[in-house]
Amino acid sequence: MKEGGRKQGATSPCAACKLLRRRCANDCVFAPYFPADEPHKFAIVHKVFGASNVNKMLQELPEQQRSDAVSAMVYEANARVRDPVYGCVGAISSLQQQVDELQTQLALAQAEVVHMRMCHASTSSDQHKPASNTSSENLSPSSRLAKSLFDMDMVVDQPNMGESLWSC
Ligand code: ZN
Repeated sequence: MKEGGRKQGATSPCAACKLLRRRCANDCVFAPYFPADEPHKFAIVHKVFGASNVNKMLQELPEQQRSDAVSAMVYEANARVRDPVYGCVGAISSLQQQVDELQTQLALAQAEVVHMRMCHASTSSDQHKPASNTSSENLSPSSRLAKSLFDMDMVVDQPNMGESLWSC
C-alpha cells in the first residue's frame, strides 16, 4: 500500500501542508485556519515565525482562540516584513503618538471653548447659549476622541491655532 492518503481524502491539502509538502491529515491543526485558497497567509507566518512555532502556539491554545491567534500572527508577520526593525510595534507607537497629539489638541480646543463661553457670558447680558456648539460635550470620551480623529485631521499641523485662543 503506498500513499493511499491522496486517493482517499479527496480534499486538497491545506495551504500549510502544501507548502511543507506533507500529507494533510484529517485532524491537521493548520487546516481550519490556512485554507488552500489563501496560500500567502501561511507563507508569511512560516517565513516570520516558523511552521513548528506556529504549530506549537496553536496546540497550546483552546480551539476557540486559535482563529484570533492566527489573525494576529498573520497581521504581525505582515507588519514585520514591511518594517523589519519594529514590526507592528512601529504601527502601534505611531498611532499612540497621533493619539497623544490629538489629545493635546482636544485639550486646547476644550480650553478655547471654555474661554469663549466665559467671554460670551461676560459680554452678553442674556445667558442664551447655542446648544449645538457644545454637542461634543455629550459624547463619551472615546467617541469624542473618535470624533476628533476625524475633525482634527485637517488641522494637525496648525500651531497658529493658539493665536486666536485667548482673544475675545
Ligand atoms: Zn494541513
